[in-house]
Amino acid sequence: MILKGFENLQAYLNSPRKIVIIGHKNPDGDAVGSTIALQHYLKKKGHKPKVVVPNDFPHFLKWLPESNKVLRFDKQNIQSKNALAKSDIVFLLDFNALHRVGWDMENTLKEYPNDFVLIDHHQQPDDFTYMYSDVNISSTCQMVYQFIEMNGDLDLIDETIATCIYTGIMTDTGSFRFRSTTSTTHRIIADLIDRGAVNDRIHNNVYDQNSEGRLCLLGKALTNLEVLPEFNTAFITLSQAEKDCCKFEKGDTEGVVNYALSVKGVVFAAIFIEDVEQKIVKISFRSKGSFSVNLFARNYFDGGGHTNAAGGRSDEDLLATVARFKELLPKYKEELLVSYE
Ligand code: 5GP
Ligand code: MN
Repeated sequence: MILKGFENLQAYLNSPRKIVIIGHKNPDGDAVGSTIALQHYLKKKGHKPKVVVPNDFPHFLKWLPESNKVLRFDKQNIQSKNALAKSDIVFLLDFNALHRVGWDMENTLKEYPNDFVLIDHHQQPDDFTYMYSDVNISSTCQMVYQFIEMNGDLDLIDETIATCIYTGIMTDTGSFRFRSTTSTTHRIIADLIDRGAVNDRIHNNVYDQNSEGRLCLLGKALTNLEVLPEFNTAFITLSQAEKDCCKFEKGDTEGVVNYALSVKGVVFAAIFIEDVEQKIVKISFRSKGSFSVNLFARNYFDGGGHTNAAGGRSDEDLLATVARFKELLPKYKEELLVSYE
């Protein structure tokens, strides 16, 4: 755990500040939940906070309270840049390095003259003036709760804040099933319910929103599933043509990689998603146990993340990317066979 400059930050936040809160590119439940939760909390503390994210987030997060006020750097570029120019300090939530916001926004942030505060649970964080970084915590949302707790402000958590924090913990823990889900996580979740989070609604709002297109895509994904029992590995591919055929929308592939990980005996799963517009193959990796997909993604696919959940990309085409992935597996055979004993 890294806790850097927090007493100074608390002193700095004793006066009202203009604050920008930023989540990573392709924001997920944890990024959207944590940024909005922190925004509400800081507003209650008398500050003027704004949330800016690099690009759009999935429709199953758009019910979150006041998510319609989140600024998109790609679409509301001038407003986003103005908010940054006027701000006294910037919070970076749920990512570990500036490049995770995409090159355009990264270039703007590189010129930012004031201090950054990082609150994040990804590995190998870059250095910032103020930091609360802990790779052992389930989610950035849990860290926002603990940040509020450190400030002695738990009583400021209302239904809105509780709902946002609950959502990010739920999505980042795979609904409280990953190893990162501790007894502390469950105690926090219980407290959030007491403070107004309506748990069955939140699960419904996030998970029971499938469109026909998403289920069509899931069908294609399951058809394309390939299991490699000798490596305890399974992977899925989705081509651009398959996405087009199912009227692909942002968020439709979220969680699909977990079907590969759910195959009996599989400890390493991947999904390769062709993106013709960006000319890349976007990859999600998942693992069970000690096999680090963070290192695998970092070493071979220009990515990173956590030990058991990471992402990356490839500039080669889908077939070549999958071939390269398969070629790498023999090197990790021993590790994969003992990963989740
Ligand atoms: P997902 O596979 O759900 O997109 O991402 C899983 C985890 O890996 C998330 O914590 C996410 O922040 C991280 N991640 C996804 N893609 C990338 C990437 O391209 N680079 C890095 N460094 N991390 C990524
Ligand atoms: Mn997260």
